[in-house]
Amino acid sequence: MEISAKQRLDDFMSGFGRRNPGQPEFHQSVYEVAVDIIPFIRENPIYGDHQILERLTEPDQIIIFRVNWEDDHGHFRANRGYRIQHNNAIGPYKGGLRFHRDLTLDTLKFLAFEQTLKNSLTGLPMGGAKGGADFNPKGKSEQEVMRFCQRFMSVLWHHIGPFTDVPAGDMGVGAREISYMFGQYKHMTREFTGVLTGKGLSFGGSQIRAEATGYGCVFMMENMLNRKGDGLKGKTAIVSGSGNVAQHTVEKIYQMGGKAVTMSDSSGFIFDPDGIDTEKLAFVKQLKNVTRGRIHEYADKYGVEFYKDQRPWGVSCDLAFPCATQNEISGDDAGMLIRNGCIAVAEGANMPTMQAGVDVYDEAKIMYAPSKAANAGGVAVSGLEMTQNSMRLSWSEDDIEKRLYRIMKNIHDKCVKYGTEGGYINYRKGANIAGFVKVADAMVACGNI
Ligand code: NDP
Repeated sequence: MEISAKQRLDDFMSGFGRRNPGQPEFHQSVYEVAVDIIPFIRENPIYGDHQILERLTEPDQIIIFRVNWEDDHGHFRANRGYRIQHNNAIGPYKGGLRFHRDLTLDTLKFLAFEQTLKNSLTGLPMGGAKGGADFNPKGKSEQEVMRFCQRFMSVLWHHIGPFTDVPAGDMGVGAREISYMFGQYKHMTREFTGVLTGKGLSFGGSQIRAEATGYGCVFMMENMLNRKGDGLKGKTAIVSGSGNVAQHTVEKIYQMGGKAVTMSDSSGFIFDPDGIDTEKLAFVKQLKNVTRGRIHEYADKYGVEFYKDQRPWGVSCDLAFPCATQNEISGDDAGMLIRNGCIAVAEGANMPTMQAGVDVYDEAKIMYAPSKAANAGGVAVSGLEMTQNSMRLSWSEDDIEKRLYRIMKNIHDKCVKYGTEGGYINYRKGANIAGFVKVADAMVACGNI
């Protein structure tokens, strides 16, 4: 008797669960992919014969190390550093570094797995990786951040290189941290190579890299709307987060004629019904990137409401852009979004919607661009930074933004190719299959290594 796809999924997930106990986020991200890939493998048995899904859900290698550093009071401190080199079937390992107090191996395994499929979607030759440390940058002095970055890189440099593994930024790791780490890498190796992306413009960085994730997310949304004969102009959007991705999402929404009315941080959200314009966004950038303050200061300055310890999903909107962190939208939140008129969600953050929320989007058949498609613009421009470094030249801002737009349009179109179900586009399924196929074909071609 033939085993049903549901039974295969259950069998696969139970084996996966046994091998990865106590890792709910990794479990969630693999489930969200397996649900689409297992039926696809039944139609394309070569991937089953080569055990591609089983191999793709096992990282190539995981490096865990202690990072010793000294704080401003001369006290010795120790943190845990990680690098997960997940899969290099289609190019060198590539993915961000996250510094966050609560970072765990579980979070990094889910991020590295997602990164592999996301990088494949960009069409650029990049494998998947992720790393970071349980270092909390909040409240640390400039000197402490520099010393930590240097000590972190004094271990990591053994494992990376421009043809091996090329890290970038993520939460808690922006231009400042990348610069310190690049300086240390150069110091250890005596080589000036494109080993990190997100570098400063004067030492090998690319135009638009800082903006790319947020801009790309808005381009993805615009493409989904365009397909329906609609567009961003005149739309009201809610955005979570106030870091790199959120800032540039708000910026591009404004430039394209939409109105973003919320931003948040881990202490709550602000609601500005008049919209966050260029001047107000400049205030947020200064607040978050320079003075490193809290989002309620926006409410104090512009006389709008601040909702302590809450998320913005109850605010009426046409469009939603979760750009803060994983699992910030529950099933109830997703239901509230749809009841309040939201027609589309584009995920700037990685896996911000819980499985129950994704089920709600599916049921309501709204336009839903999952993170691996919607936030791929950041790594795409990182890929362009690698290309520029290899060619030893720099492309203009206008050139890179056009390339970014084209990459996001291609990602959109691949989702349509693999995700069309009658008149409905299942972008989640389309992104999963399109991301999988390229990596899987390379793994089949290269043999069982
Ligand atoms: P930042 O560190 O610049 O900003 C993160 C934002 O999220 C901050 O506003 C932070 O608030 C908020 N936040 C963090 N934890 C929580 C929480 N538990 N509840 C509510 N808000 C929270 O990070 P990025 O903007 O770079 O990254 C945001 C997301 O986008 C992450 O999921 C990341 O993996 C993803 N991403 C980033 C890319 C990039 O290029 N930077 C590329 C692709 C994906 P607070 O200041 O209070 O901590």
